[in-house]
Amino acid sequence: MQASWLDDDRNFVWHPFTQHQTSGAPLPIVRAEGSLLYDPSGKSYVDANSSWWVNVHGHGHPHLAKALNEQFSVVDHVVFAGVTHPKASELARRICGILPPTFEKVFFSDNGSTAIEVALKMAFQYFHNRNEPRTKILALDGAYHGDTFGAMSVGQRDYFNAPFEHLFFDADYLPFPSEENAEQVLQRADDLLKTGAYAAFIVEPLVQGAAGMRMYSVDLLDALVKCVRKHGVLVIFDEVMTGFGRTGKMFAMDHCQEIPDIVALSKGLTGGVLPLGLTVTTRPIFDTFLSDETARGLLHGHSFTGNALACALACASLDLFEEKALWERIKNLEAAHLAFAKELAEHPSIKGLALLGTILRFEIDVEAESTYFSHVRDTAYHFLLEEGILLRPLGNILFINPPYCLTADEHARICKGIFAFLEQLPER
Ligand SMILES: *Cc1c(COP(=O)(O)O)cnc(C)c1O
Repeated sequence: MQASWLDDDRNFVWHPFTQHQTSGAPLPIVRAEGSLLYDPSGKSYVDANSSWWVNVHGHGHPHLAKALNEQFSVVDHVVFAGVTHPKASELARRICGILPPTFEKVFFSDNGSTAIEVALKMAFQYFHNRNEPRTKILALDGAYHGDTFGAMSVGQRDYFNAPFEHLFFDADYLPFPSEENAEQVLQRADDLLKTGAYAAFIVEPLVQGAAGMRMYSVDLLDALVKCVRKHGVLVIFDEVMTGFGRTGKMFAMDHCQEIPDIVALSKGLTGGVLPLGLTVTTRPIFDTFLSDETARGLLHGHSFTGNALACALACASLDLFEEKALWERIKNLEAAHLAFAKELAEHPSIKGLALLGTILRFEIDVEAESTYFSHVRDTAYHFLLEEGILLRPLGNILFINPPYCLTADEHARICKGIFAFLEQLPER
């Protein structure tokens, strides 16, 4: 029985981010509960990266299960152009209620990449509708905003998207900011923005996820946003990964003085259970799309826009964020990360330790360059899998961003596994 579905996988499935010629067999998972995943033999794996950074409450949460089942018996899915339903409007109101008060309008789509596409289209059309067309976007070196064409156009240009590069629209990149280069970065931003060519600055606030959970300070982000604002250019925060408690606050922008004009949300939005993306913006931006002419509206939508099951899950997830106990779990996770980080810092093979909220990242100090293809990626991945930990390193960068329900024992299992991995590394 069991072998047959794995044969089907081998014969018929094309997996994401996978070179099928060299990749081994995928890990078969037949059950998921809390922070644990189970293979057919019953062996458990701690879901140390929250199933690709999405799962915030753990798998099979009873409150989410109830919301999903109830919604299915009421409205499953209906067209969202010219039609509405209670869960979408409830979600829109509640999202605006937890974002800063300038956020008043919510556009629904299907995932992180589409939320970014919508944000980019909003920004370009905002200027188009004002008869000041702009052609470029400003972004940061190392950015990742998704895998659709618009999102790739504003992301880091490298081997991941090289086959498509000739098709991208214009974007310019600021160096990744640090205390050392802050002045040059701001100067560069100022010089570029002065040209008036840019519709928006798009940025992953405080943490660049796919760049290896690369972190920068609130002060640097605030200074950048302030600079962009001064030039009348829109600011887009890609909170697809940072949203919903990841950074220790509800949103990364909650750490900041300066807030964006547009924010993209997804991943943890539904508790990480169903795909859903939101692009949220201000009343003045929404108002530039109002007209007697249809074409001035945002003529964008997907078949599953406003999916009622996903909206019900997102509302149920927000219920859980209203509980004090959840924020205590986030605090405890942060404290456990900090204690682990202190131990790790002593190890000669560790560098680049950084911590924010529920994310802990570090690098294994290898001779080779720190690229995605670094062999440490494979050895660490397989070693940790043996130890019952599912953790996808990015090159020689390891990070832990688990569901917030992770228990102390499960955290300890991750720490123990990582130390065991470090122990068997060749002496440096
Ligand atoms: C994952 C991610 C995206 C893309 O979201 P998908 O749902 O995978 O399309 C965009 N931006 C950031 C910061 C992400 O981490």
